[in-house]
Amino acid sequence: NRRLVLAAHPKGAPTPQDLRLEEVPVPQPAEGQVLLRTLYLSLDPYMRGLMNVVGPSYAEAVKLGAPMAGGAVSRVAASKHPHFRVGDLVLGNAGWQDYALSDGKDLMPLGDMARPSLALGGLGMPAFTAHYGLLDIGQPQPGETVAVAAATGAVGSVVGQIAKLKGARVVGIAGGADKCKYAVEELGFDVCLDRRDPELAKKLAEACPDGIDVYFENVGGDVFDAVLPLLNNHARVPVCGIIAHYNDKSLPDGPNRLPLAMSTVLQKRVRMEGFIILDHYGERFRRFSREMGEWIATGKVKVREDVVEGLENAPQAFIGLLEGKNFGKLVVKVAD
Ligand code: NDP
Repeated sequence: NRRLVLAAHPKGAPTPQDLRLEEVPVPQPAEGQVLLRTLYLSLDPYMRGLMNVVGPSYAEAVKLGAPMAGGAVSRVAASKHPHFRVGDLVLGNAGWQDYALSDGKDLMPLGDMARPSLALGGLGMPAFTAHYGLLDIGQPQPGETVAVAAATGAVGSVVGQIAKLKGARVVGIAGGADKCKYAVEELGFDVCLDRRDPELAKKLAEACPDGIDVYFENVGGDVFDAVLPLLNNHARVPVCGIIAHYNDKSLPDGPNRLPLAMSTVLQKRVRMEGFIILDHYGERFRRFSREMGEWIATGKVKVREDVVEGLENAPQAFIGLLEGKNFGKLVVKVAD
């Protein structure tokens, strides 16, 4: 049983030395437990917060020497649980390891899913985040302008495509020409701009002649700075993530621009609302599953996966996620 444990708390960007690959015996399930074989491990930006001494408010930090936490699609390899049989495909929290035990409370049966990795992306947490954040908080109206960064990623790609289905004009921001081309030609965004373009602010203003009505905040940083002056009266800003800052060691130098942000919020009557998707499962997830299942099946929403082979390659892939090296929902294929 191979597993990746947290070897050190990263200082700034994580390095390969912050994670250690260990070999331990395969655990045996006790009465009421199942043994899970990991098939696909999800790599997600929130995991960076779990590596800090103190984790994010909604999740516990991973302790030094403990396996990294994470969602995974697994197959039941042994069962002493009345509701699970050997061979069942489940979504759970196996973490960064070949095998894990579960008491079943965190497991969602997946039945005979043709593409099980979709349970981690297009039919799972990231796409649900997009669906909830955009529709319940962003509430785009036909003809409005929606802007979203990390536009080809697990969340952003779905935000833009749902916004198009709702009749909005969609402006994406993504890392590099290939991603931008994909956002426009494959995902149907109206425009996509390179986040590293030194003229991003100017080009975004040109791309949004009527301002921005919904800014789905995935990244913070330079993109937020470029968006701020373009927000319209009564703009909505679902605050989903600020990945540009996850590796920050301290607050940035320079003038304090909080008053600028706050006066914009005030004068433009902007509604900014942070949300953590864990709070919204239950009935709301079932509505998402129905709608998204149909959109994917009918080709109205496309989902792209970036599949990395082998558990041992998870650390490098995760480090790359925080630099924009992934192209689509990042998953690690651990076993067949
Ligand atoms: P993605 O698949 O979009 O991958 C992350 C992307 O972020 C990269 O590909 C890159 O895209 C972009 N990125 C990386 N580093 C930087 C940087 N320094 N500055 C700007 N952009 C950067 O990840 P997800 O779709 O899973 O997550 C997107 C956001 O949503 C994250 O902020 C995440 O934390 C958040 N999130 C929040 C949830 C919630 O409950 N609130 C739930 C799930 C996700 P590119 O190269 O195109 O710039």
